[in-house]
Amino acid sequence: MQGAQPWGQAAVPQIDVLGESESAMRVLVSGGAGFIGSAVCRLLVGEFDATVLNVDKLTYAANLTSLRAIEGHPRYAFCRADICDREAISDTFREFDPDAVLHLAAESHVDRSIDGPAAFIATNIEGTYVLLEIALAYWQRLPAKRAKRFRFHHVSTDEVFGSLGTVGKFTETTAYRPNSPYSATKAASDHLVRAWRETFGLPTVVSNASNNYGPYHFPEKLIPLAILKALHGEAIPVYGEGDNIRDWLYVEDHARALFTILSEGRVGECYNIGGNAERTNLDVVTSICRLLDEMLPGSAHRPHEQLITFVADRPGHDRRYAMDTTKIGRELRWTPSETFDSGLRKTVAWYLENRWGWEGIWARRYHGERLGAAASQPPNPTRAKSGLPRADQ
Ligand code: NAD
Repeated sequence: MQGAQPWGQAAVPQIDVLGESESAMRVLVSGGAGFIGSAVCRLLVGEFDATVLNVDKLTYAANLTSLRAIEGHPRYAFCRADICDREAISDTFREFDPDAVLHLAAESHVDRSIDGPAAFIATNIEGTYVLLEIALAYWQRLPAKRAKRFRFHHVSTDEVFGSLGTVGKFTETTAYRPNSPYSATKAASDHLVRAWRETFGLPTVVSNASNNYGPYHFPEKLIPLAILKALHGEAIPVYGEGDNIRDWLYVEDHARALFTILSEGRVGECYNIGGNAERTNLDVVTSICRLLDEMLPGSAHRPHEQLITFVADRPGHDRRYAMDTTKIGRELRWTPSETFDSGLRKTVAWYLENRWGWEGIWARRYHGERLGAAASQPPNPTRAKSGLPRADQ
């Protein structure tokens, strides 16, 4: 394990964390080099005085520059490991001695799950199983006082609930109806977590969140892709007619909600997290174009809306997601602090002002190529204008 050298390989971590107070929570964050996990690590270390061990395999989705702000911090350390690797994960528990696990590591991109479900089955299902087994054995050996405090917090998605019609919202008791390989594997992992609570008594909590957006988002997702395509004067791909609706949640609001649930949530419960910000994909992309028109008055690509291009829809594309967040608001007094307009403005500004945070990925690893295309539907001839890469949520 390293503090300031996050590129190191797994090995047995040596925990020698300085600057930790008696009451500081020690949190093992899986997937902490990803989009949401890195926001969680920055928040836990930067604001909540927690001690964090980030355990991440560093897949294509990881972005270590997102951890630059904390990488030399005495209460932060990194261990490169696969959550499916039982031995490596056992070592991290033994050496780090966590008070809590925040489990975010996952294969998370729906289109990649259409092209290649195997990695999703391995990480999302088997990896969660390995973590649960090791956490259970660890928890059973803890002294009573620490065992009572221990939490295994599993981070999941609204996509497990399937698709909504034009009205209604998902609640914590909505039946699971996953439609993609991604959401099916997340649903399976949610069920495993529930079973480890019900059968073995492991103190778990589960949260299901809506679509996140914000700084350091991987460029193949709708919002960063639209910003970066527009910035480069390239066609901005929008699925089908652009009328799929998502409930957008600013990533830092999500990270705060996770900390609130981890520290105050009731064991065995599930909590929905949403941004109370339903928008069609076309609304989202149009808002981005207008913000860029305003922020880049000298751009040769104005009006950026002219770049919007409708492309063939994704197979099994869920129509609408919306979260009922009454429970987390009532029980834990959490509400999102960003509106969609304020969060999107911050996000667009971040991409304009922090090119170092995305330029490397855009140039070397990802340039908006179409994914999930193998099984895609033919474009709607009345609206689709090309077969260009398209945006995901
Ligand atoms: P991400 O793809 O950006 O990051 C995932 C991280 O997990 C990466 O750093 C990757 O290297 C790591 N990882 C993948 N496989 C691993 C393995 N086998 N072992 C160890 N590390 C591994 O994902 P994200 O968007 O930050 O999502 C994080 C979690 O939140 C996921 O569980 C996802 O299902 C959930 N979630 C995401 C959203 C969203 O809108 N992005 C919404 C709700 C819930």
